[in-house]
Amino acid sequence: MTLEVAAGMVPLVIRARMAAGVAHGAPWGISLDGLLASEIRENTKAAALEAGIDYEPYSPDTVPEDLDLPLARCTGDGGEGWHWAATFAFPEDEVPGPHVQYWSARPDQQALEQMSDQLPALVSERQGRYRSRVMPLPLTVCRHLVWRAVGDSAAVTELLAPVVSIGKKRSAGHGHVLSWEITEEPAADRWEFAHLHPDGCLGRTAPAACLHGRGDLRTGGEGQMGLRPPYIHPARRAKVLLPSR
Ligand SMILES: [Zn+2]
Repeated sequence: MTLEVAAGMVPLVIRARMAAGVAHGAPWGISLDGLLASEIRENTKAAALEAGIDYEPYSPDTVPEDLDLPLARCTGDGGEGWHWAATFAFPEDEVPGPHVQYWSARPDQQALEQMSDQLPALVSERQGRYRSRVMPLPLTVCRHLVWRAVGDSAAVTELLAPVVSIGKKRSAGHGHVLSWEITEEPAADRWEFAHLHPDGCLGRTAPAACLHGRGDLRTGGEGQMGLRPPYIHPARRAKVLLPSR
């Protein structure tokens, strides 16, 4: 495990001041590298649209290409198991939970009638594909979300500046970011900023090789998950150590 750090990259603390907190599906926070990669893809998409050229979305059948993020790389297991030097989000000043909100959805009968000329007499709201649903939405209620990383602070700042909301159900007002603050910490330990939360626990997915010789660190155990964006792509799944929360 070594860190490949390009010129100008230093340990960084990225802090998002939140209006109320963030909603998420996974038990751990949002990844900084995932956030940066999706911003780069959004920019590429907008440019393609403007130029009138086709934009290729991710496909489950092809191995996605790695975007060039303004972050250092950890070589991990020395093979395919490398990752970007950045953690997942860590909540600061958190209001202890659990906080769960529920949202419900039911099919629009009128819309179904307009879409189909052979609608059954009754589209059941209690069973089948078009049943109404009540879904839980776990929330993290906190003042700030904090990430640690090794990277190019100007480039990271530029990519994050237009991001006004993160996480799930953003259109319903969740995950509203009031401001971003990026601080350089040149004297900090680079390995630590590439892997650990401020409380010293594993702060991201990592191959076991990353933790060799680092003592008894708290992790979330072993599991199958991605090491770098797009995290949920099937080609990215690997045996990794999970973040401790
Ligand atoms: Zn690593």
